[in-house]
Amino acid sequence: MSERNLRNELERSCRIAVLTHVHPDGDALGSATALVLGLRSLGKEVSFFTERPVEETYRFFTAESQLIETMLPDIYDWMIALDCGAPDRLGAAESAFLAHPHTLVVDHHHTNTGYAHTNIIDGDSASTAEMVFDLLNEWQIPITPEMATALYVGVVTDTGRFAYSATTEKTHQVAGALLRLGADSNEIHHRLYEVTTLASLQAKAEVIKTLRFFCNDRLAVGFLPRSVAQTIDVGDAELDGMSNMLRNLQGVEVGAFLREREDGAYKVSLRSERIVDVSAIAASFMGGGHARAAGYTSNATLEETIEALQKAVASTL
Ligand code: AMP
Ligand code: MN
Ligand code: MN
Repeated sequence: MSERNLRNELERSCRIAVLTHVHPDGDALGSATALVLGLRSLGKEVSFFTERPVEETYRFFTAESQLIETMLPDIYDWMIALDCGAPDRLGAAESAFLAHPHTLVVDHHHTNTGYAHTNIIDGDSASTAEMVFDLLNEWQIPITPEMATALYVGVVTDTGRFAYSATTEKTHQVAGALLRLGADSNEIHHRLYEVTTLASLQAKAEVIKTLRFFCNDRLAVGFLPRSVAQTIDVGDAELDGMSNMLRNLQGVEVGAFLREREDGAYKVSLRSERIVDVSAIAASFMGGGHARAAGYTSNATLEETIEALQKAVASTL
């Protein structure tokens, strides 16, 4: 379906559900918020669903969300998933989404196989927010300052403040347009990167204590046990920069941050400098992501998880 026909289809619908991936990041929440607000401006009844309440760090730009457990999928004419590379990343919404007769995916994961009826996928786009910016323009939906703020957050977080290699000339052009439309970059940078919490600082100290090096010091691994995370009460958003911090160490090619989740599994977050394609490593462990930023979940023990990761990284260096 062409993007124009898609707009006509959406125009005919009344109720739309918007979803994104579990543990949503700035791009997931920013692109979803802009689309939610844009479709509402067309008079649609649009609900935004997340698996858990949105973390405090991201609340300043995020549209009010409802919990997936309260979702009644049958009442929606369309279901839209943003920034979600695979259906299992929809969490509790996966089966409802796959069973729905009218679904749309907008995403920039090059590993996305297109699990919706209509798929808009651009693996070269640095963020889903850039794609939503294009769609809103194509559909002639005006971008308000609130929508511009949400999209700017998506662009700035997924490009690591315009630093990652996926950042293009177009990324900067979109960012410039968003500033013109009312995004306040100083305020956004301040909220996302300057204001920190004591919990985040304490978590950093704990992770630094656990730091281990492998593969001739080219792989740095840090770990946060569940007991410590509970004691200092730290959320995912507050741990967002941890794998970057490890990757940024001089001489390190891959930074790996392992967080023990409440169910005992490990959430592995990978970042690479310039050689290793961490999305391929993550995919080999049933995860996914991008060449320089990827992740997966491991149900093995901590030592087994590190051992397997070390082997995978060694084979690519
Ligand atoms: P994170 O390290 O959580 O910031 O994730 C980095 C990138 O990896 C994100 O863009 C996600 O799309 C992807 N990713 C993280 N965890 C998973 C997972 N369990 N399965 C698939 N993709 C993941
Ligand atoms: Mn994301
Ligand atoms: Mn993204």
